[in-house]
Amino acid sequence: MTHPFLDLPPLGAARFAAIEDRVARLLGTAHDVVITQGEALLPLEGAIRGTAGPGTVALNVITGPYGQTFGDWLRDCGATVHDLAVPFDEAVTAERVREAFAEHPEIGFVSLVHAEAATGNTNPVAEIGEVVKAHGALFYLDAVASVGAEPVLPDAWGVDLCVIGAQKALGGPAGVSAVSVSERAWARMAANPAAPRRSYLSLLDWKERWIDGGRRVLPHAPAQLEMLGLEACLERLEEAGPRKVMARHASAAAATRAGALALGGGLEPYVRAARDAAPVATTLRAPAGLDASELVARALATDPALPLAAGGGALAKEMIRVNHYGPAATRGVVRGALAALGTALAEKGRAIDPEGARRAAEDAWTA
Ligand SMILES: *Cc1c(COP(=O)(O)O)cnc(C)c1O
Repeated sequence: MTHPFLDLPPLGAARFAAIEDRVARLLGTAHDVVITQGEALLPLEGAIRGTAGPGTVALNVITGPYGQTFGDWLRDCGATVHDLAVPFDEAVTAERVREAFAEHPEIGFVSLVHAEAATGNTNPVAEIGEVVKAHGALFYLDAVASVGAEPVLPDAWGVDLCVIGAQKALGGPAGVSAVSVSERAWARMAANPAAPRRSYLSLLDWKERWIDGGRRVLPHAPAQLEMLGLEACLERLEEAGPRKVMARHASAAAATRAGALALGGGLEPYVRAARDAAPVATTLRAPAGLDASELVARALATDPALPLAAGGGALAKEMIRVNHYGPAATRGVVRGALAALGTALAEKGRAIDPEGARRAAEDAWTA
């Protein structure tokens, strides 16, 4: 008996390299791309442990929970870390980064999250990249949540280490991820005695055993199903046209934001300025006196398939997330999410305007 997931022919080196090339095309990068065989935390941690050590002075920008994690890893590596934290309902500005360099000119490493699905904000990476480049620091970017939803251009932005995953806007599997690595970043790793080697976290292993050998022999058995899933979602994106797909994400975010405001009942966008709001997910602030988790549970009771979630951890009471991941970035899903949230608010006795919300969402989508 054949099964669609089982008894597949082996995924060879040529196919693996071709998928890497496809990721490189998507990112418009001439840097090496390594497809890491695990969830995005693998290259995120591997890239930090590979490049940071006791001599590193890092500027770690915190605009959400991932930035906090990166700071912990950097400290664990022995780096001196200057945290630049901004409230989770804003984005960082290039000016704040410029000020940090003025205060600590010895900064040689900058870590930044592009878009945060957990908080719904997105940071101006191109402008920040100019500042980082002017100071010659190594630039590390978490683009897991932004890739596929908005442009991610590591080479144009001077990003040395750009990490992506398949499970957000690409609508792919969570068990595979990738990182683009500049020559400078490879050199930093090669010179770092603390860089992981012969380790699952080692990017250098991939360089020495895979890239430097001309990508002819895989160092170990690939995560075949995940690789096929990644290939399929890249193919789907190429066929639909990345610009169109990104426009669809931007429309979904704008429509959700406008619709939530028009719905009323005290619902508000969590990210204060529209320009700071990420196309990958729209976060909303629950009305005062109402619990976000409870509203989400009630909304999901009307349609369990909606991409709604309460905020994680400390944000669970106040934040509602409407995800626009890949196939969920449609008019129908936005409409459904607004209708379900409207029902939940009405059940709580809030005065709402579902028809106004529907119209505002439609207008914002078309704009
Ligand atoms: C989603 C996401 C990741 C990947 O982590 P998971 O929570 O396991 O999906 C990494 N970084 C950012 C900014 C993300 O939004």
